[in-house]
Amino acid sequence: MDNPIGSCDHCGGVFRYRLLHNGFGDSAYAYCDKCSFTVLLSSWAKASQRISFRVHQRITPDIEPLLKPCPCGGRFRASADPKCPYCAKPLSATKATGFIEQNAPGTAKGWQWQQSWSGVYSIALNENIVEDWWDEEAVNRLFPKIS
Ligand SMILES: [Zn+2]
Ligand SMILES: [Zn+2]
Repeated sequence: MDNPIGSCDHCGGVFRYRLLHNGFGDSAYAYCDKCSFTVLLSSWAKASQRISFRVHQRITPDIEPLLKPCPCGGRFRASADPKCPYCAKPLSATKATGFIEQNAPGTAKGWQWQQSWSGVYSIALNENIVEDWWDEEAVNRLFPKIS
């Protein structure tokens, strides 16, 4: 099944998106400060076992230096919101309610969009997503292996 379609509230650009429930995946996430990329951090990944980080939500700023740069050269930031793949402006979590609730099968049964980019749901745009994007060197330096 194809991912549902949303649109940018700035340029009208159309993209496919996927909502990710970070409670089911025991994960945390962040967005690039320059482009439309999302990073997803599973608490089950090997590097994650050594770092204590809060899951089911967006990362906290202390996690930023432990992540590799985004493929575009930007940084994944706790304060960055998801950006349009075309104009790179931050999408409005409130304005996204229209297409997200319209496309979600659960809406008829009372499901509601969280209207925020820091809740339990994260979003991947046009499958621009990287997973378990730890900078091994930084992780080893800050969280040395206990032998
Ligand atoms: Zn746009
Ligand atoms: Zn980027």
